[in-house]
Amino acid sequence: MKIPKKIESQAAKLRHTINEHNYYYYVVDDPRVPDSEYDLLLRELQDLEAKYPDLVTADSPSQRVGAPPLDAFAKIVHSVPMLSLNNAFNYQEAEDFAKDFANTEFFAELKFDGLAVSLRYEDGLLVSAATRGDGYSGEDVTANAKTIKTIPLKLRGENYPSVLEVRGEVFMPKAYFNKLNQKQAAKGEKIFANPRNAAAGSLRQLKSRVTAQRPLSFFSYAVGVVEGVELPQRHNDILKLLQQWGLPISQDSQLLTGIAGCLKYYESVLKQRQDLAFDIDGVVYKVNDLALQKELGYVSRAPRWAIAHKFPAQEAITQINDIDIQVGRTGALTPVARLNPVEVAGVTVTNATLHNQDEMKRKDVRIGDTVVISRAGDVIPAVMRVILEKRPKKTQEFIFPKQCPVCGSDVIRVAGEAVARCSGGFFCAAQRKQALKHFASRRAMDIDGLGDKLVEQLIDRDLVIKLVDLYRLTVEQLTSLERMGKKSAQNIIAALEKSKSTTLARFIYAIGIREVGESTANTLAQHFTIEALMAATKQELQNIPDIGPIVAQHIVKFFQQSDNINSIEELQTIGINWPKNSNTIINKSLAEEVFVLTGTLSQMTRTEAKTQLENLGAKVTNSVSKKTTCLVAGEKAGSKLTKAQTLGIKIINEADLINLLKSYE
Ligand code: NAD
Repeated sequence: MKIPKKIESQAAKLRHTINEHNYYYYVVDDPRVPDSEYDLLLRELQDLEAKYPDLVTADSPSQRVGAPPLDAFAKIVHSVPMLSLNNAFNYQEAEDFAKDFANTEFFAELKFDGLAVSLRYEDGLLVSAATRGDGYSGEDVTANAKTIKTIPLKLRGENYPSVLEVRGEVFMPKAYFNKLNQKQAAKGEKIFANPRNAAAGSLRQLKSRVTAQRPLSFFSYAVGVVEGVELPQRHNDILKLLQQWGLPISQDSQLLTGIAGCLKYYESVLKQRQDLAFDIDGVVYKVNDLALQKELGYVSRAPRWAIAHKFPAQEAITQINDIDIQVGRTGALTPVARLNPVEVAGVTVTNATLHNQDEMKRKDVRIGDTVVISRAGDVIPAVMRVILEKRPKKTQEFIFPKQCPVCGSDVIRVAGEAVARCSGGFFCAAQRKQALKHFASRRAMDIDGLGDKLVEQLIDRDLVIKLVDLYRLTVEQLTSLERMGKKSAQNIIAALEKSKSTTLARFIYAIGIREVGESTANTLAQHFTIEALMAATKQELQNIPDIGPIVAQHIVKFFQQSDNINSIEELQTIGINWPKNSNTIINKSLAEEVFVLTGTLSQMTRTEAKTQLENLGAKVTNSVSKKTTCLVAGEKAGSKLTKAQTLGIKIINEADLINLLKSYE
């Protein structure tokens, strides 16, 4: 068929644009457009090529996966190519895929949103690790992969193959992704668009020291070259063997029959998506029988026997109506974009963070701009980039304020810090509100009834200027506030009175020293009295395990300010007290809990999990009994799991545990 000139140039243009996007996505780990937009472009090209097969060129992005390896890395040639997956973007496409497989057995897996890696074991030892690259050769990331705790350096048992190539996904758990971006923002360094880019940027590192600091994880989902052992003929049996050899596999996969089973799986996983500890962008259905897989074979860049059924995108495009500056507890100024409401993966988003002044400048974000926003990794929605082609005429560069928008004090940026801060301290109503909310919160002074709304009123009406003023409030003052009856006012006064008896750890946490969270407060309370803490030098603080130079510096600085010392003395004078020997924070909700940990955890060691639970007041014991309130079942959980099931004890998995711990951070 003769190809019209117009179509030819349309295809050439698409190829060029897609190749550009591939470069930024695969090589620089910094995509320029949301995946959904990229997918549309690729679809458009594929449709054209389907209509005019002569359009297909060998270098068309429709025929290739990824991008060639970077020269900075040594290359590793894949003896068995590492291909991609075909996508189904809706139910119809998934059904079309499955129509020839009426009663076929499928193995359904999560589609982890990370990057594909091939691990090569020789005689049970990890000898190399490579990225997918362009599918035929990848980058040698052996040293970096060895820093990933869940990747075994040596296989378990004895009956493993003499050569085993394991294919799987390296990914970054969501909790760490959020922390990493916060750290990057504070240091004025690159913010990652999503956990996938963060994982890729962390693994494709020339310095393995950097990779080692980035908590990455790994799940196996396939094999490449295998020598010396005959593998089973069913995909799920192969994965079981990998697990026996010590390789992590996901526990969320399922053996199913036909498309109906697959679609049910899709729906149930979609419901759990936000609760998983890591990001996924869909599920994958794989024909389970290897003989049938072989018969079906491959199309250009993907197997015919599998399909990725994609979830709705976590990125969207919308317009910025306004930019506000929020002032936090420590005076940090955070720019926030007010958006034209847009739905992202089932949630309507109206605000998105712009992180800090440098990020805004780097991205040159302006009011009126059309932007890509992302809520990948469960983060607070963030503005990822501006679509410059859509910028209206006459927009103006956003000028970051030199004065605090709330109290008018000077905004100060300490050299080397990316965060600009209001210098007003407790004088600034915004900081006072945040400080008071923190002081009253459940894990700090635990003042029942003193919620956010009440705090706002107390500050707006100048009833609380200093922390101690809280304890001088009268029933009359409180009843003069909106929606406050006499009974409620009395309850608050009683709650304030009750909060005076506390623990030193809670008090240290409550006064709001920068970077001193609950667990640091706990540690400090175990080593110091309040008087000794106020007088401690940076060195004395650093001598304590877990207290680093930055936290030590913040503590010293905090107590150098006479206002803070006065405030603490006033609070003690008005009656705040703590028993000498009960220095730890008792978290009320976990104090009642008795945990048992069993099976293998992939994101942390059992000891780490135990310490974190104990820090929150929980008891952690070794055996399941009637007293156990919750069992954390890791991979390969055995008899303890069965016993807990028999006793009807609450059972959670590692993802639940991480979420639980996260909720107390
Ligand atoms: P893909 O990510 O859609 O699917 C293939 C990959 O899925 C495999 O290589 C493997 O890494 C991964 N995977 C996860 N779980 C798996 C499992 N259980 N079994 C098998 N594989 C599993 O394909 P791709 O070729 O890596 O990239 C295409 C994706 O990248 C699309 O989502 C596309 O939108 C995005 N992309 C975006 C841009 C951009 O500019 N935004 C550019 C290029 C690609």
